[in-house]
Amino acid sequence: MGFFYKHRILLGFSGLVLAVAVTFAFCFFALSRATAQSLRLTVVIDAGHGGVDGGVVGTVSGTKESDINLSVSRLLQREFEEAGFLVVQTRPTEAGLYDAATAGYKRRDMEKRAEIIQKNSPAIMVSVHQNFFSQTSRRGAQVFYREDSEASKTLACLVQTSLNSMPECVKKTSALAGDYFVLNCSDTPSIIVECGFLSNPQDEALLISKAYQEKIAAAIAAGALSFLSSGANVV
Ligand SMILES: [Zn+2]
Repeated sequence: MGFFYKHRILLGFSGLVLAVAVTFAFCFFALSRATAQSLRLTVVIDAGHGGVDGGVVGTVSGTKESDINLSVSRLLQREFEEAGFLVVQTRPTEAGLYDAATAGYKRRDMEKRAEIIQKNSPAIMVSVHQNFFSQTSRRGAQVFYREDSEASKTLACLVQTSLNSMPECVKKTSALAGDYFVLNCSDTPSIIVECGFLSNPQDEALLISKAYQEKIAAAIAAGALSFLSSGANVV
């Protein structure tokens, strides 16, 4: 009887030690995880358009801008995550950000994007779009920034320089100031990247290919990461 009694005490004691050890390990893990996450900066990526709003359409393939935007945004997410950033997508799926496509849906869609940007206090915001112009010879990537934000301008110039350095870049351009809701809705250094022209057949052929989308995402990320590592986002 004494033997079993001793063993029960011993077992009970071992169980207690194990439970305390597991609790400690769990708390330590949870704490270090929370600390690591609190130190990580967030990047908001905004895939333009979506749902009933497909944006502009490729003149040869009929590909919707919204689909290319989403694809590039997902590739861009991978780039930032690999660099250690937390990423929030305003539009993670093909659906628009309005409840129903009734009157005022575009306004509701834009307000939702603004809400997501403001709520996450990101280090930067990158909005992804495709261009279209009546003059079909126009080609190339164009970055826009918020006029009254030096940080936004610096970010835009670094991303534009990175895009200009791509071998497929036929004409180097400068980043431009733009009066757009998604740039003006927060104090976050924000840019719009128009990756190319869906009104130009050569640009369109590039933009619908996964290989080029990956190159564009890598070029945007390279410019943005040089901005983030410079600390220029801390203003
Ligand atoms: Zn667009």
